[in-house]
Amino acid sequence: MTKPDTDLIIAGGGLAGATLALAVARMVPSLRVTVVEAFPLSPDALPESYQPSYDARSTALAWGSRLIFEELGLWRRLAEHATPIHHIHVSDRGHFGVTRLHASEHGQEALGYVADNRWMGLCLMRELLETGVQWQAPAEVTDMTPIPDGVRVELTTGDNGTREMTAHCLVVADGGRSGLREKLGFQPSHHSYGQNALIANVSTSDSHGFSAFERFTDAGPMALLPHGSPARAGHQSALVWTLTDKALAEVLELSDDDKCRRLQERFGWRLGRFTRIGTCHHYPLTLTTVDEPVRPGVALVGNAAHALHPVAGQGFNLALRGLMTLVEQFRLATEQGKSIGDLDVLRRYQSLHRRDWQQTVRFSDSLVRLFGQSMPPIIAARDAGLVGLDLLPGAKRWFASKAMGLGGRRAVIGRPGKLDREVTRNE
Ligand SMILES: Cc1cc2nc3c(=O)[nH]c(=O)nc-3n(C[C@H](O)[C@H](O)[C@H](O)COP(=O)(O)OP(=O)(O)OC[C@H]3O[C@@H](n4cnc5c(N)ncnc54)[C@H](O)[C@@H]3O)c2cc1C
Repeated sequence: MTKPDTDLIIAGGGLAGATLALAVARMVPSLRVTVVEAFPLSPDALPESYQPSYDARSTALAWGSRLIFEELGLWRRLAEHATPIHHIHVSDRGHFGVTRLHASEHGQEALGYVADNRWMGLCLMRELLETGVQWQAPAEVTDMTPIPDGVRVELTTGDNGTREMTAHCLVVADGGRSGLREKLGFQPSHHSYGQNALIANVSTSDSHGFSAFERFTDAGPMALLPHGSPARAGHQSALVWTLTDKALAEVLELSDDDKCRRLQERFGWRLGRFTRIGTCHHYPLTLTTVDEPVRPGVALVGNAAHALHPVAGQGFNLALRGLMTLVEQFRLATEQGKSIGDLDVLRRYQSLHRRDWQQTVRFSDSLVRLFGQSMPPIIAARDAGLVGLDLLPGAKRWFASKAMGLGGRRAVIGRPGKLDREVTRNE
């Protein structure tokens, strides 16, 4: 093909797409990147200042994700509003099993962090302003045709216009709900958990003390993550509450006071009394995976490739590790004079990331299945497992490494102009 319009088109400027754009700009600056985003969202139209909102949705970032954001030069900014998790408390409601993880036991400042999605988006956008990444919004990628040495991508733009762009590679980061993945012929497998995640911020009479709570109940898991000031342990936590369709409908009908009472029954008193609940959002929970997330000139990332149950807060953390693996392959391809859309390049990304995503999916999926069981021998075994985790240092280290997004293999993430640095990655 003659010189394409750009080197890389990213369909979707959500957390995964925007982070990928920044990582490419930082690690392979010779590549020209265009992000196509359906929402009218752009680095040129940023608010002057950030005011945290009580109702903001947030994400638990593992310690390993902090290392990646440091690598991308984003962490210093992000840390201004990222609440540290110093302790994780895992329990099984109505049963004796409990395990506790403490950052200090693992020689770390924190096990992870909680950051508002809006704040992460703002930090990414501010950082992107300083790069040469092009932004098309509002616009949607609607189709793609393979052409020699690349792809031709069709876009619809905000004014109902259409446009074509050529590139060496299209990365699909559309979150998996737009249908683009299916339109391009990928075959995801879906497993519905028959549950929904209800998300809200809550206030409690006791301070969270920078503790995150994972509580497994007979009706499904719930998590409370420390939220608010990074410097002073406050009284606000981010709730992720899994509920069946029927239970969700009931809870949504309740007044805020009754929601707090219902939550108190389910969670107990470890944080004192629930005094306030903010705006509730809910999402149906499905495990979606794509076994073959690459084609010549096309790769899937983020939720478009894998959408997990949020119980262990792994989805975006997994996506982030995948993005870094992909960018590393783009860097090597560029150095070797290969096209970044070359199938060998994309297959290498797929094979390097495969073990990580398979293990992470298995970890979060088995937590949901194991703790969803009501048969007494299984309850006894899982509670013994939680106690065992608490008592056996090796098992506890393994569990902590999963929670922190760290793991077995050491991977090298390179950055031009800088000595390659070792970052432990969960594979
Ligand atoms: C309830 C809940 C709680 C979670 N908590 C955690 C957590 O604590 N920790 C964690 O690691 N992960 C968590 N996750 C997972 C995390 O939210 C996702 O992994 C992450 O948001 C994925 O981002 P994404 O960019 O892939 O998709 P999205 O955030 O869905 O972004 C997709 C973007 O693509 C755009 N788009 C769509 N179609 C098109 C198109 N055709 N063309 C152009 N643009 C398009 C959309 O406008 C959107 O901006 C949670 C998920 C849920 C549901």
